[in-house]
Amino acid sequence: MTHELKTGGDRGYLRIATEEAFATQQQFDAIMRLIKEGRADKGTQSLWGFYGTSPSERTTFIRERLLDLGELRIQAMDDTGIDKAVLAMTSPGTQTLFDVEEAREIARDGNDQLKAACEKYPDRFYGMAAVAPIDPEWSAGELRRAKEELGFHGVQINSHTHGHYLDEPQFDPILRACADLDLPLYIHPQGLPDDMIGDMVGVGLDGAIFGFAVEVSYHAMRLLTTGVFDRYPNLQLMLGHGCEGLPHMLYRLDYMHKAGLRSGRYPRLKPLQHDLFHYFRNNVLATNSGLPFGPAIKTMIEVMGEDRVMYAMDYPYQYVPDEVRWMDDLEIPFEQKKKFFQTNAERWFKL
Ligand code: MN
Repeated sequence: MTHELKTGGDRGYLRIATEEAFATQQQFDAIMRLIKEGRADKGTQSLWGFYGTSPSERTTFIRERLLDLGELRIQAMDDTGIDKAVLAMTSPGTQTLFDVEEAREIARDGNDQLKAACEKYPDRFYGMAAVAPIDPEWSAGELRRAKEELGFHGVQINSHTHGHYLDEPQFDPILRACADLDLPLYIHPQGLPDDMIGDMVGVGLDGAIFGFAVEVSYHAMRLLTTGVFDRYPNLQLMLGHGCEGLPHMLYRLDYMHKAGLRSGRYPRLKPLQHDLFHYFRNNVLATNSGLPFGPAIKTMIEVMGEDRVMYAMDYPYQYVPDEVRWMDDLEIPFEQKKKFFQTNAERWFKL
C-alpha cells in the first residue's frame, strides 16, 4: 500500500468511475430462468450459469453487490476513494431475453430503480439507461424518457442482441435517439453469440479474459466501417476494457480498411468521409475498466487524445483497492491524470 484512499479530491482530482454495474432482482430471475429452461445461448449459460450459481467467495460477493444500490456500494466507494460512479444495469441487460414485453418491463423498472438511487445519493450516483434493443422503437422512446425525465447521462448496450448488431437498419432508431439526445452510447460486452463463440467455452476463453474483447471490438468495427459516424457525426461511442484493444491496432485497421476499399474486395465496404484515425479522435471514447495497466492507458491517450480516455473500476466485478493506487501513481502528467479521473467523465457524461 502506497497511500490512503480518500474521497474529496485530496490528490487534486475527484475519482469518477464510469463503468459500474448493478442488477435488479427481476433481471437476475429472468436470466436464471432462461438458463434453467435450457433456452439461454451458450455465452449466457457460461456467464450467468457461473456468476448466478457459483458458491465461490468472488461470485457470492458479486451477486450481493450487484443487487445493492445503497449503503454497501457507498461504503465500497468510500473505502477506495471513488467520489462518483456512473451506473448501468449489468450485462447482458435485457438482451439475452426473448420475450419483448418482459425485456421492456425489466429495462423500464431498472431505470426507475436507478433513478431512485441517484435521487438518494445525488452527488455519488449517476445513471446510464437500460433499453430493450429487441424493440428499437420502444428503446428510442425510453432513451427520451431517460434523458428528459430521469436525467440520465448515457445508455449502455450490451453488444449484440441475439447475434444482431447496431449497424443493422432495424436498430437505427436507437442510434438516432442517442445522436438527437446527445447521449453517449456505451457498448459493453456480454456472452458471444452462438454463431461466433466456437469452442471458446471449451477452452475457457469466452468471457472477460478474451472473448468479450473479440466480440465488442467486432461490433465497434462494424459501426465504424458501415459509416454510422458519417450519418451521426456527433454520436459518441464509449468502449471499456482499454477500448477493447483497438487503439493498439489502429494503424493496421486503417491501412487494411483503405486497402480493402482500393481493391473493391468487399461490396459492403464503402468509402467513408474520414480515415479511421479521425473517428477514434472524434467519435470514440475509452475507459480502462478492468485494465489498470499503464502501457494500455498511455497508448490510448497517445492514439485517441488525452480528452477521450476515462477511469472505470468495473465494480463489483473487479473490486481491487490497490488498482486505484496504481492509477493514482500512473506516470502521466498531472493534467492528464485529472482528465482521466475526473474532467473527461464530467465533460462526456455531462455530470
Ligand atoms: Mn463491466
